[in-house]
Amino acid sequence: MIIDFHTHLFPPQIIQRREEYLWRDRWFGLLYGNPNAKLATAEDLIASMDQAGVDACVAFGFAWRDGGLCQCHNDYILESMARFPGRVIGFATVNPARGETALLEAQRCADEGMRGVGELMPDGQGYALHDEAVMRPLMEWLADRDMPLLTHSSEPVGHMYPGKGNLTPEKTYRFIQQYPETAIILAHWGGGLLFCELMSEVREACARVYYDTAASLFLYDDRIFSLAATLAEDRVLWGTDYPLIGHDTFRRRVESARLSPPAMKSILGGNAARLLGLSEEELL
Ligand SMILES: [Zn+2]
Repeated sequence: MIIDFHTHLFPPQIIQRREEYLWRDRWFGLLYGNPNAKLATAEDLIASMDQAGVDACVAFGFAWRDGGLCQCHNDYILESMARFPGRVIGFATVNPARGETALLEAQRCADEGMRGVGELMPDGQGYALHDEAVMRPLMEWLADRDMPLLTHSSEPVGHMYPGKGNLTPEKTYRFIQQYPETAIILAHWGGGLLFCELMSEVREACARVYYDTAASLFLYDDRIFSLAATLAEDRVLWGTDYPLIGHDTFRRRVESARLSPPAMKSILGGNAARLLGLSEEELL
């Protein structure tokens, strides 16, 4: 079972009116101001998955600052789930700084079959992840439903890129310690938090932390796959950041890494299925 844990979908209306959204949301403008930055629909996603033999994808929209835009975008994800059952697993994007409204939206999406919340982008949405007044209600809501949260995170060093932001390991570490009851997926290898797990107290605190591999091909060299497997084989989730990177390319790169067959299986889908409680039947 091959599952991509990190993909972004956009409704055709937003793709057609891309220019307008570049100024409506500053962070969207930063990430997608470059006309070469791709936007993809659910049909594009399915075509890419089919080409690479990917069974299912966790798909979400964009973490807009405006809660209304998050809601419209979630509608598109819900529609995509209905059109491609078992292949598109939806996560809800909300802006937790909107308080009660964000919780109601998460509830609506969960009621309609979404499996988690994310990808959050606190730098773009205007709050700090460690701000308990903002995050605690959502995190407790997720813990009650045993649903995971996926958040962007980034490296404290290295090259800059649009959307990198400042969610570096010292911040995400503080955040995960605040919510040991909630499964948290740190995108982009947790900005390197994974490597701090060589410290026993960090490893202990990260028991419910998962790392996705989104955008890895632009960030690290491929030795990271085998290193990660030795550190957290059962908590690494293959995620492409599609359409930034296509499935075919990314899958081949992971499969070329020196991983044991069980580690390969876990990372390419087994861990995702376990985390989301998916059965084979649900996916086919
Ligand atoms: Zn991200």
